[in-house]
Amino acid sequence: MKRDANVLSRLCLEGGLSPRVNQLRLDPLSGRWVTVATDRAQRQALFVARQLTLDSLEGIPCPFCPGMKASAPPALEVHGASGDWLVRVLPNRYPAFEGDRPFVVENRGPVFTEAPASGIHEVLILSPDHDRTMASLPDEQVSLVMSAIRDRVEEHENTSGLRYSQVIINHGRQAGASVAHPHGQLLGIPFVPRELAEEQAGFDRFAGGCLVCAAVAAEETLDYRIIQTTDHAVTFCPYWSGTPYEVLVVPRDHGAHLHRASPSGIVGVGRAVRSVLRAINESLGDVAYNVVFHSAPYRATDVYHWHVHILPCLTTRAGFELGTGVMINVVGPEKAANDLRDALRRVEPDPDDRHVTATS
Ligand SMILES: [Zn+2]
Ligand SMILES: [Zn+2]
Ligand SMILES: [Zn+2]
Repeated sequence: MKRDANVLSRLCLEGGLSPRVNQLRLDPLSGRWVTVATDRAQRQALFVARQLTLDSLEGIPCPFCPGMKASAPPALEVHGASGDWLVRVLPNRYPAFEGDRPFVVENRGPVFTEAPASGIHEVLILSPDHDRTMASLPDEQVSLVMSAIRDRVEEHENTSGLRYSQVIINHGRQAGASVAHPHGQLLGIPFVPRELAEEQAGFDRFAGGCLVCAAVAAEETLDYRIIQTTDHAVTFCPYWSGTPYEVLVVPRDHGAHLHRASPSGIVGVGRAVRSVLRAINESLGDVAYNVVFHSAPYRATDVYHWHVHILPCLTTRAGFELGTGVMINVVGPEKAANDLRDALRRVEPDPDDRHVTATS
């Protein structure tokens, strides 16, 4: 579709189109500036395919496949009709957080402050099938995975001393996965981590109600960065994307906590995550990615809206990013959303989803 210059500049002003010059955009969640520098988009050729994990390269037996003895009783198992497990949660063999010592901060010198890394660190096995990924899980399996996440976070909340649960899925070595078998991790920790505290501050700063509800409403009106909308979730590339093909999946129902959302809402978000991962595979190939679930700390009462970040690992953080915390994004989120929307249509022409029609 052709647009005249006035319309173009108005859309640029309203956050509708990719900038024709490099642009700073404010991430209202984190409070950080990101740089969208799409002139560097030809660098897309430098995007890298997922590296295989060492276990698959070296033929080491998979510790998460059915039949492997777990080192401890599973924390949760969901079984199918044939009696075999379908979803499994195991204690992490190399936990970052462990035990129940109270969170007491001690000063061991003028600049040496420490506290016990107490908590829970679990592995969530997404499927008994070694060769699946989150992107290739069928609907029913996604439902089981999401119910398991909810059940475990509820359990974490009821564990004394813990304040926050982080759920993640790392896919590929660049994303930090050490085992190829599809799995996520569930960490219950005794403090509110900085990323969450920054997002909470972002919600506090926002004067127009819920920041995430407002972002969804604005994106749906503009229709430029939406990838998929369903009854339960809205998936888009945020205006302030700091990395190429960054995606936000937001539940339609406003609520602070994943584990207190309706079962259909939780499952709907899980399916939206699965679908956009499928679109990422279709559009970019088998790339590494991180899926990060953000839910409010258990006892938080301020406005917050739980959501899921999907961060494909296509570029590395170099000196400028590490030194300043300012990301340089070489793919405008407008282009990213367009690519992923097209890819999703190709791989998942699902009549139940109201795919947004392309607008340019
Ligand atoms: Zn396996
Ligand atoms: Zn909201
Ligand atoms: Zn977040």
